[in-house]
Amino acid sequence: MIKAIIFDFDGVIHNTLELAYKINKKLGAMATLEEYKDFFNGNIYQHKQIFPEKVKKFFKLQNPKFKKLIIKQNIKEELYKLEQDYDLFIISSNMEAALNSYLKNNKIEHIFKEVLGLESHKSKVYKFRWLMKKHGLGKNNSVFITDTLGDILEAKRVGIKTIAVDYGFHDRARLERGRPHKIVSDFRELAVEIKILMESES
Ligand SMILES: [Mg+2]
Repeated sequence: MIKAIIFDFDGVIHNTLELAYKINKKLGAMATLEEYKDFFNGNIYQHKQIFPEKVKKFFKLQNPKFKKLIIKQNIKEELYKLEQDYDLFIISSNMEAALNSYLKNNKIEHIFKEVLGLESHKSKVYKFRWLMKKHGLGKNNSVFITDTLGDILEAKRVGIKTIAVDYGFHDRARLERGRPHKIVSDFRELAVEIKILMESES
C-alpha cells in the first residue's frame, strides 16, 4: 500500500503570510492581519470578501514574487528524506503556475508526484477525492500537513487525518478547534509524527 503525505503549501513549505497580506492590502483590502487570518477559517474561495476579479489581481502581483522565494534549507532536506519513504503530493489554494515555478527554482519539483492548485479546483475536498482515486490512496495510509483551520476541516470531510504546523497562518489555539491528529512547531518534527501515525493505522 502506498504511503502518502499530502502537503498544503502556504504556511507549511513556505511561510507566505506576510507576502499574501501585503498584496491584499495593496489591493485595498481593509482587513487587519488578524482579520485576514480569519479568511482561512474555511475555504478561502468561499469567503465573502473574495471574488474572481480580486483573485485575478492577487495572483498577478503574487506570482512574480514567488519566483524569488528561496526555500529554507532544513525544510528542503526534510522533504528529500520524506520522499524516500512516502509519495509526496501538494494540494493548495494557490496557483499551480506559482507553485511549480517555486518548486522548480528550488529544485524540488521532481520529489512531488502531483501538485493540485487553483487551476484544478477551488475545493480541497474535491482535490483530495480526486487525488485519492487517481493514485489509489487510502485514508489510513495518507496524511495531510497544513497550517490552517479551514484546511483541517476540509480534510476531515474526506476522512484524511491532519498533522498541523503552528508556525504558519494560524496559531495553535485556532488549529486545535479543528482537532487535528497532532500539532507540531517545526517542520523537522513531522517525520517522527508521520511515522507514528502511519504505524498506528497499519
Ligand atoms: Mg496554508
